[in-house]
Amino acid sequence: MKRSAFPTLALSLLTTAALAEGGFYGDPPDATHPWAIHDMNRPQPMRVEPGTFSSQEKPGTPPSDAIILFGGKAEEIEKWISDKNGEPTKWVVKESVLQCVPGSGYVRTKEEFADCQLHIEWSAPSKVEGNSQGRGNSGVFLMGQVEVQVLDNYNNPSYPDGMASSIYGINPPMANPLRAPGEWQSYDIIFRRPIFKDGKELDPGYITVFVNGVLTQDHTPLEGGGGHMKRSKPKAFPDQGPLKLQDHGNPVRYRNIWYRPLPKRAIEGGEASRMSEAATAAKRAEIAKSIREDAAKLEGNAKMLRLFESICYEANADAQEFALAAVTDFATAMKAVPADKIAAQKGEILHVTKALRYLTQFKFVPQDLAAKQDLEAIIKAQDWEPKKK
Ligand code: MG
Repeated sequence: MKRSAFPTLALSLLTTAALAEGGFYGDPPDATHPWAIHDMNRPQPMRVEPGTFSSQEKPGTPPSDAIILFGGKAEEIEKWISDKNGEPTKWVVKESVLQCVPGSGYVRTKEEFADCQLHIEWSAPSKVEGNSQGRGNSGVFLMGQVEVQVLDNYNNPSYPDGMASSIYGINPPMANPLRAPGEWQSYDIIFRRPIFKDGKELDPGYITVFVNGVLTQDHTPLEGGGGHMKRSKPKAFPDQGPLKLQDHGNPVRYRNIWYRPLPKRAIEGGEASRMSEAATAAKRAEIAKSIREDAAKLEGNAKMLRLFESICYEANADAQEFALAAVTDFATAMKAVPADKIAAQKGEILHVTKALRYLTQFKFVPQDLAAKQDLEAIIKAQDWEPKKK
C-alpha cells in the first residue's frame, strides 16, 4: 500500500505548493514567456522510464516512450521495405541483427517521421576489406534526406566530410571515437528538420550526434541534404520521411534502432522557453482561464489569491474586481481583530501580504493599495518580520 500511496501524497504536496506559491514567486510572464520563473502552473515534464545501455554482447533496452524500428525480432523486418520499389527488402535478420545484403539496395522504414532522438547501433564486417569509402560503408538517412555516415574508419582515413558520423558532404565529425571493426558502435542522434516558409529559411535544421557516447556533431546546421561531390544548398524538407539505411556494397549490421519524436520548436508554435508574442498571448490566456476555473471551485482567501494569480497571465476585470473586494474585506476584518487574538492570524496575514507585495512590485495592482498598507501596518506593529542584523 505504501508504494501506491506515495505518488498521491507527492501530488497533493505539489497542489498545495502550487496554491501556496502560485504566481507570486519568480518574475512574472512577459511578451515571449507565458510562464513566470519557477512557475508551478507550468506542466510537469512527462514521465519516461529510462532504458538500459548496450554492451558488446547485448543490446540495451529503449526508454518507455520510444518507437522501436528494429529491436532484434525477425518479424520486425516487416517494418522495413526496399527503397527502390517499396517491395519487401532483401536485407536479412540473422541472430537478432538486421544485416545489409550487398546489391539489394537501400532499406527504408514504412514509418515516416521528422524531428527525433534516434538511437541506432551498427557493426562493420570484422573481416577488413577495402579502404577509405570502400570499408564498412553504409549510412543513416534521416527523413531519407540527410546522411549520417556509417563507415569503418578505425585505422582507415578518408575525406573528413565523409567519415563515420560526418553529415555527409556537409560537416566532418569533431572526433573519431570508433571501435574496431566487428564491434558494435552506437549513434545517438538529435535531428531537427529545416523549416521554410514561403521559400524563406526560418530554421536551417540541425543534427547533433554522439558516437559511442562521444559528441561528434554539435547542433550542426544542415545546409540542405548534403551529398556526393556537390556543395549542398539549404532546402526545404517534406513534413515527414522514412529512416533509410544505405546499401553501399558492404554487409554492415544494425541493431537496437528506436526513436522518440521531439516536441515542436517555438518557431513552429511549440512551447520552448522563447515563443512568439502571438503564441505567448494565446498561451497566457489559456493558463489564466484554467486558473480562473480552478478559483471558481475555491472559497475565501484561496479563491482571492488564485484570481489575483490569474491576472498575472491575462488581465480580467471581473477577476480583478472580485479579488480586490475580497482583499479589502480581509484587511478590514484583520484590522478589527483584537491585539490579543491577532497572533492566530499571523500565517494568513503574512501569506496574503507576500502575494500583495508581488502584485504591487510587478504592477498588477495599484502601488498604494489600502488593503496592503493595512496588512503591512499589522505586521510592523506585531514585529513579525524583524529586520535582519
Ligand atoms: Mg554511406
